[in-house]
Amino acid sequence: MMKKDRLEKIRRVLSHRQPTLTVLLEEVHKPHNLSAILRSCDAVGVFEAHAVQPRGGLPTYNATSGSAEKWVPLQIHRDVLTAISDFQAKGFKVYATHLSERASDYREVDYTQPSVILLGAEKWGVSQQAADLSDGNIIIPMMGMVQSLNVSVAAATILFEAQRQRKAAGMYQTPQISELELKKLEFEWLYPELSKIYLEKGEGYPELDEEGMMVSS
Ligand code: SAM
Repeated sequence: MMKKDRLEKIRRVLSHRQPTLTVLLEEVHKPHNLSAILRSCDAVGVFEAHAVQPRGGLPTYNATSGSAEKWVPLQIHRDVLTAISDFQAKGFKVYATHLSERASDYREVDYTQPSVILLGAEKWGVSQQAADLSDGNIIIPMMGMVQSLNVSVAAATILFEAQRQRKAAGMYQTPQISELELKKLEFEWLYPELSKIYLEKGEGYPELDEEGMMVSS
């Protein structure tokens, strides 16, 4: 792809990113699930995903993800309760996908407000303490013989409901990221290797022209 086309695509994608919508993964440990979740995050416009490291270490990514992890950075947290409180202090509502009595239908939530979707480990689900600390419990209604969905399927279902609501509210029409941050990310996404060198040297990135070429000052 020509640099100019690449830059246009990057600008379009970044202008759709939603810093007030994210996922928090509590010990999701299967690489294919992590990769599939990040791929859905990319498609919906999640700016940054969050995870609490599973006890066995962070899963590696699966090669089939279409390299979504390049475009949706994963922030690692030491423990889930601190991560939830930190989000709440920043004005986010945290919704635990916890299969409990007090869970409401995931479509009843207003995802146009700053929202975190908390997803649980493949086997154990969301921990009771994390669910208790969350602002709400949500569930995708199940009408079959099997009790739960695969975690990446649940993530996608809820994320695309959030996308639907945010699209209807016009939140993809104007960039949700500041102009300064957009410029920085444009350079990093277009020139990933070079941007590392600039960072190491502690130098600011050069301006880009409309063709995606660096403008010398
Ligand atoms: N035994 C676990 C439990 O009771 O939570 C099942 C875990 S499930 C396979 C893994 C994760 O997928 C859950 O923690 C939740 O995040 C998500 N999930 C699965 N089915 C769901 C549903 N119907 N509604 C909401 N989230 C769901």
